[in-house]
Parts: sequence; C-alpha cells; structure tokens
Amino acid sequence: MSEIKTIVVNRSAYADNDLEADYLRKYLKEKGTYVVNLMSSPGAGKTTTLTKLINILKSTFRIGVMEADIDSDVDAISIAKNTGVKSIQLHTSGMCHLDAGMTKSGLDGINIEDLDLVFLENVGNLVCPAEFDTGACLDIMILSIPEGDDKPLKYPLVFEKCDLVIINKIDTISYFNFDFKKCEETIKMRNPNATIIPISAKTGENVDKVAQYFIEKVNNWKEK
Ligand code: MG
Ligand code: ZN
Repeated sequence: MSEIKTIVVNRSAYADNDLEADYLRKYLKEKGTYVVNLMSSPGAGKTTTLTKLINILKSTFRIGVMEADIDSDVDAISIAKNTGVKSIQLHTSGMCHLDAGMTKSGLDGINIEDLDLVFLENVGNLVCPAEFDTGACLDIMILSIPEGDDKPLKYPLVFEKCDLVIINKIDTISYFNFDFKKCEETIKMRNPNATIIPISAKTGENVDKVAQYFIEKVNNWKEK
C-alpha cells in the first residue's frame, strides 16, 4: 500500500515550545479542526482503540489520523485500511515524543482544511510525550490492564495532564492482579477532573461511551 503519505518531522526550531503550542491551538480554533493527542505505553492498544472509535465517529465528523513512530508505517496503513479515513505517518527521526512544531508539520502534511477531528497517535511511552505540549486541543491516554494498576503512581505527569484516561483490555482483568478501584483512586488523586472509561477495544465494550465523550467535547469546543 504505497498511498500512505509519510512525513519526516524534526525537532521544532522554536525555542519556546509552550508558546508555539498556544499559537497552534489558536490556529486550530480558526480552522475549526479539533486535534486530540493520544498517549500510552507501547502495546496498550492505541491503534486498535482508534480503529474501533473512528468507525463509530466517522458518520459524525470528518476525521484524520496522524500516526507518529520512530520508524515504520504499519499503524497508518492499518488505520487507513480498517477505517477508510485519511491517515498519514509521521517519522520522528529517532525522537521519542512530539513537540508543537512537529505536530504543526504533520497537520500541514495531512491538510486539515476538510477535517473536523484529527487524532494524533503520539510515540508510545509514558514519560517524555507528557512533558511536551503538542498544541493539541485535548490530551488523552490509554492504560491497559496488563501494564498494572500502579502506573498512575509511577508516571504521575501523564495522568495529571490527561482529561480522559481510557482503561483498555478490561476483558482480561480476571487474568491479572489489577485493582480497578485502587487504580481509579490513584488517577483521581493525580487528577481529580479526569474522566475514566474502562473499555475493551477487542470486544468493542464501552467504545460507544468514548465516542459520546468526543462528540460532546468537539461540540462544546465549536460553540465556545
Ligand atoms: Mg500504534
Ligand atoms: Zn522523548
């Protein structure tokens, strides 16, 4: 499948990433395109969750996906094939996170003129992606059951930063020592305003709730 566009994004030339991120959010508001920054560990199910979610949301919004990876375009190909929405691959030249300048380059590459909602799948790790504001309108994350209920203790920043925490692979909970209540309490301690939605991207359980969450978020943002 050669129709997947790949863009190499390099570290931002701007010294002040926070300033650049604020500019980007203003630009997105003018354009009417809502961008969601999705973070997680590798293997938490970002691409699978996005696929299920987009297949629900694509009748409501014109959607695009930017898949960031150090190398490879398997995720962008998979999204395009399984959802039919516009999908591009961002190569980060070895960088393990995205900053606002890299995000802007990606958005220029995907062309947001005809898009209402863009999902940015950040590079898989729970540490530095949380340290760099991408300029997205919303930060969300996925934690998966096999990773363990102690992740909000070990990686506080990403949990503090995210408005939505999706807990994926809920169908596997009986195989793991995962205390859902304890995990929920720790997330709320880090971030009292976080919305927590347990799902199974595999079976599709509760993915409609996540879709509803986005419909409300995007519509509120557009009205503001
Ligand atoms: Mg992926
Ligand atoms: Zn990094």
